[in-house]
Amino acid sequence: NTLKLMQTVYEIDQLEQLPVPQIILAGRSNVGKSSLVNCLAERKKLAKISATPGKTRSLNYYEVVPHGYYIVDLPGYGYAKCSKTERAKWGQLIDRYLEGNAYVAAAVVLLDSRLTPQKNDIDMISYFRQCNIPILPVLTKSDKTKQGERAKIQNKWQDILHVKPLCVSSKSGMNRTKLWNLLDKTAMP
Ligand code: GDP
Repeated sequence: NTLKLMQTVYEIDQLEQLPVPQIILAGRSNVGKSSLVNCLAERKKLAKISATPGKTRSLNYYEVVPHGYYIVDLPGYGYAKCSKTERAKWGQLIDRYLEGNAYVAAAVVLLDSRLTPQKNDIDMISYFRQCNIPILPVLTKSDKTKQGERAKIQNKWQDILHVKPLCVSSKSGMNRTKLWNLLDKTAMP
């Protein structure tokens, strides 16, 4: 599998219904979302790795080649330095994207493997659950944590979510194939 960037949406009025299965990628700014897109695509610069976290405020639509389903990369949330208006705009764009969208198969929620469960992550997950979107939790930067520490964080998330997060690393490629298999199975049941 690989990814092809098809569209970048900054404004609500650019949103169009896309009648193919979609998997959301969501996570706090700096969690490693762009790096994961690049890792999945096996390309170095498909998604811009943010030098200034929280700067990208767009929805990025990637087609999964050759299957034809989409991965929709949502703008990172919870960046402290972004203004209230910017945050409101973020919420509106996501609300509108999800509104009446029956094609969303799941949300991959990226969580930092070094951090205990954070409130903004739990809020995001609750929001997706309210929209009846299944959650696929993924722990990022797993190359940075020792297995024991990672297992503890993984168990904490499992207690909260009742699903065990998959540990990945964009640096080492840990569980890249497993994640692709999970995405394929979810989008093409
Ligand atoms: P985004 O804001 O969520 O898109 O995060 P980025 O992909 O831009 O990554 C944020 C920072 O974390 C960058 O400095 C990356 O090099 C680093 N990073 C991302 N993924 C990994 C990983 O799997 N391992 C390690 N060691 N660093 C990572």
